[in-house]
Amino acid sequence: MAAPAMEGVAVTALRSVLYRVHRAAERSGRNWDGIRVVGVSKTKPISLIQQVYDAGHRCFGENYVQEFIDKAPQLPGDIEWHFVGHLQTNKAKTLLAAVPNLDMVESVDNAKIANHLDRAVASIGRKPLKVLVQVNTSGEESKAGVEPSGCVELAKHVKLGCPNLVFSGLMTIGMPDYSSTPENFKTLSNCRMEVCKALGIAEDQCELSMGMSGDFEKAIEMGSTNVRVGSTIFGAREYPKKE
Ligand SMILES: *Cc1c(COP(=O)(O)O)cnc(C)c1O
Repeated sequence: MAAPAMEGVAVTALRSVLYRVHRAAERSGRNWDGIRVVGVSKTKPISLIQQVYDAGHRCFGENYVQEFIDKAPQLPGDIEWHFVGHLQTNKAKTLLAAVPNLDMVESVDNAKIANHLDRAVASIGRKPLKVLVQVNTSGEESKAGVEPSGCVELAKHVKLGCPNLVFSGLMTIGMPDYSSTPENFKTLSNCRMEVCKALGIAEDQCELSMGMSGDFEKAIEMGSTNVRVGSTIFGAREYPKKE
């Protein structure tokens, strides 16, 4: 009975993550209701995602378009999907058409992809799509995202120039070395101050998506409203896929 045992492990891991989120929120004097846990299920089988769903979790994330559009239709329609990966402009409409319950695209990092998503929402006739602007806070060339100095301009573009998108905040990945991420999280938080000032919105209208398996508690302490946790819930990814 190897498979059911594995699935049980994911549910136990989910509960442990939720508990740790709760504790981190408490430590920082925050309301735990204001923190969303995205279960990042890339490379993981439908059966395992279904188990975590059956345990009551509803928010999941994927980051490869092809894998996502293969998997989403096989899973319940009330899942709140987040897309967290790099999106090519020519895939925007395919993605939206295949996943009607796509709740948020976290990884908008240029005006062109925002425009494509905006038009795709209109042509499909779905409800407005929430998006986050991805910021490259670590300065690594391999990382996607706008430079911190470009976040205001892109956020403005989404908010004022894309009527079918809902500007919902900022996202970052940060350094793979967890000791460096606090600095990256601080940068994202500073970006939020600038964006909110420029757009005239309150900080609680601008989410911060930061924190993954290795650093989500730290991220919560630094103001994250959306943590993206993959391997700590679903187990190590043995065969990372590339698109
Ligand atoms: C894979 C991925 C995650 C989850 O990473 P873990 O370290 O497994 O928790 C989070 N965010 C993005 C953008 C990812 O691609």
